[in-house]
Amino acid sequence: MQLNNYIIGTLGSHTALQILKGAKDEGFRTLLVTLPRHKAFYQTFPFIDEIITIPNFSNFPEVEQELVKKNVILIPHGSYVAYLGFEKNKNMKVSYYGNKDVLDWEENRAKQRQWLLASGITMPRQFELNEEITYPVIVKSHGAAGGGGYFLAKDKVDLEKKIKTFGPKRYVIQEYKIGVPLYVHYFYSPLTDKLEIMSMDRRYETNVDAIGRVPHSMQENIELEPSFVVVGNSELVLREGMLSTAYDMGRRVVETSKKLIGKRGIFGPFCLETIITPDMKFSIIEISCRIVAGTNLFINGSAYSWLYYNEHMSTGRRIAREIKNAINENKLDLLLD
Ligand code: AMP
Ligand code: AMP
Repeated sequence: MQLNNYIIGTLGSHTALQILKGAKDEGFRTLLVTLPRHKAFYQTFPFIDEIITIPNFSNFPEVEQELVKKNVILIPHGSYVAYLGFEKNKNMKVSYYGNKDVLDWEENRAKQRQWLLASGITMPRQFELNEEITYPVIVKSHGAAGGGGYFLAKDKVDLEKKIKTFGPKRYVIQEYKIGVPLYVHYFYSPLTDKLEIMSMDRRYETNVDAIGRVPHSMQENIELEPSFVVVGNSELVLREGMLSTAYDMGRRVVETSKKLIGKRGIFGPFCLETIITPDMKFSIIEISCRIVAGTNLFINGSAYSWLYYNEHMSTGRRIAREIKNAINENKLDLLLD
């Protein structure tokens, strides 16, 4: 089969196990690039055919030629983008699953906001430092990953004090929404023009998710600054009556991307990071334009992917299924950059 001509590869962290298990289940050979200290661990998994080690993730471009020769299709994930950096990623020559033009629209918060607003998505209000601000606000640096490097301000005095010692020069000031953070994992196939909700998760963040464990009377006496560093993810299913709204948001994001972003817009896995407020409305704080770590809860499939597939379909496996379908239909060009 033509499938043998390709190897599915990724970097050893984040969602690598899910991606490579899915690739193996779909009949591909698999390859992992990782650090020497992770090798023994990854070797314990029978679905990883080959492991290449590099001293640092930043050394990844040095193995590029080898990957090109082996006909590797590289699946990007959160660590891939975080470790390789924006420019290096764009200049890589190895076959990349996805549209690299989307990276420009994701990395720049202003462009990301333009894209989401043009899709009719509700986002928290955003403020400039010198304008009248409705409090509380969250201040977020550009390109921050994993919820690090943010702070909350309750009023003008608080904001002005904290911004003085805040390192990053590029940041946004956003209305702080109090509600349930729900991350919806979508998959869009340009082969069938079908959008699916694969799964969803709630992040668990320290210390903001733990502050409620300290009595209010004590909170006043200790210097307690909320932080948003992600530690893990937990499962959640949405009220069914809200599912079609979540679906429509994803659909509009895809359609708008076809007009705004070069080539074919966004396709494959992506995630809308939402906060659901008591009026049952979604406020979108961010879009993540690839597989997100919360999908690791669903290596065996989710309640939703079960409805579509009647088999154990993770997002990682869905990616491999898509690539397999494209190979069979001679349309692989549609999926690679
Ligand atoms: P790691 O390889 O675990 O150090 O993660 C690399 C990047 O992926 C980090 O910068 C995180 O932002 C992101 N990441 C890793 N795990 C998660 C998670 N469970 N939820 C959200 N983001 C994550
Ligand atoms: P992000 O890096 O945008 O994914 O945000 C990381 C975390 O910060 C989220 O999971 C939320 O807990 C929190 N967060 C970010 N923006 C907002 C907002 N506008 N309102 C409330 N919480 C937010």
